[in-house]
Amino acid sequence: MSDQLVYGKIRSQTAMELEERYGAHNYHPLPVVLAKGEGVFVWDPEGNRYYDFLSAYSAVNQGHCHPHIVNALINQAKELTLTSRAFFNNRLGEYEKFITEFFNYDMVLPMNTGVEGVETAVKLARKWAYAVKGVEQNNALVIFCEGNFHGRTMLAISASTDPDSYDGFGPFLPGIIKIPYNNPHALKEALLKHGKNVAAFVVEPIQGEAGVYVPDGGYLKQCYDLCKSHNVLFIADEVQTGLARTGKLLACDYEQVRPDVLILGKALSGGVLPVSAVLADKDIMLTIKPGQHGSTFGGFPLACVVAQAALEVIRDEKLAERAYELGIVFRAELEKIDHPMLKLVRGKGLLNAIVVEPKNGIEAWDLCIKLKEKGIICKPTHRYIIRLAPPLVITKEQLLEASQIIKSVFTEIQV
Ligand SMILES: *Cc1c(COP(=O)(O)O)cnc(C)c1O
Repeated sequence: MSDQLVYGKIRSQTAMELEERYGAHNYHPLPVVLAKGEGVFVWDPEGNRYYDFLSAYSAVNQGHCHPHIVNALINQAKELTLTSRAFFNNRLGEYEKFITEFFNYDMVLPMNTGVEGVETAVKLARKWAYAVKGVEQNNALVIFCEGNFHGRTMLAISASTDPDSYDGFGPFLPGIIKIPYNNPHALKEALLKHGKNVAAFVVEPIQGEAGVYVPDGGYLKQCYDLCKSHNVLFIADEVQTGLARTGKLLACDYEQVRPDVLILGKALSGGVLPVSAVLADKDIMLTIKPGQHGSTFGGFPLACVVAQAALEVIRDEKLAERAYELGIVFRAELEKIDHPMLKLVRGKGLLNAIVVEPKNGIEAWDLCIKLKEKGIICKPTHRYIIRLAPPLVITKEQLLEASQIIKSVFTEIQV
């Protein structure tokens, strides 16, 4: 490891001390400081290079500082950045046409962060329940799945079953039902019991934060059909799974399910600035009227060109196909690792995880530290799962090299 300052003006140690001293302690980062990124690689201030196997929680599917996306940003930044929605701007409509055609929906509601997309989708579903379905005012229910992650707002944590997310933040939002994930029967029961008042069922096609928890084949389709038979909106939170990450443009595509409401975020930004989107058809989307929802930044010109460029990269570089094929290669390599601490490999496309069995006090965190020392950065989720999600522009050779590094980390642990 080199110790000379190569990128930026401060060393890793100083950068970490500053964050510790002046920043809220709402994260527990791996002790690595990033100062530069390009494609699948990031570098620390001292010039050490790492494979990025987190991809900012799948927000940089297109790779770091993708030239097409960065150029779109720079060019637009010189023209016009923010207008608010008090006025029209010459970028929004063009982007809206592009993204709705891209995903085959009538309309889009642009927001910024993923959790705002979730908030928007649930508000939309409640409006629709009162205006179209005929639910009595203030009686609408929304069904969520246990183990979910939808972000950090009061709605999202009210829907959460993870004590780290909700503990100490009550009181919580009413009108929420939580059922087990990967259990269509539980949805059926909930709908039989409450169906008249249920506005929507919100689901992640794969639970990312929960540890890349992949439901059984057919789960999404069965849930979708159940929703249809009870006149309930099927809302897919594809903030993490969408945009080619799992080997299809959308993870719902695996089961030919077309969500009534689709939430996108993360990689819609190309890793450049926060962009999220809620897509739906007119009968749902037009239940929200002018003045009833919005965001100062939602749909700002800079975001519009960045998001369009981010989608163009996914399309032009065939990232879904790449993720699909490389995912098969990657899981096959990981499954070759024969070690008592490696319990399970799972995932789809390039959204994968290894489940580890902690031994002799060695946990997922310790493995991530060792991986970092060998040039791969990733983050444990819970104490026994390591998510492995490189940018989708990774080459097969790079992926094989990274697989060897992962293998060597296990081999060096004697248990
Ligand atoms: C990350 C994530 C969110 C929240 O996105 P933010 O941009 O952090 O608000 C919501 N849903 C899912 C499935 C996510 O993975």
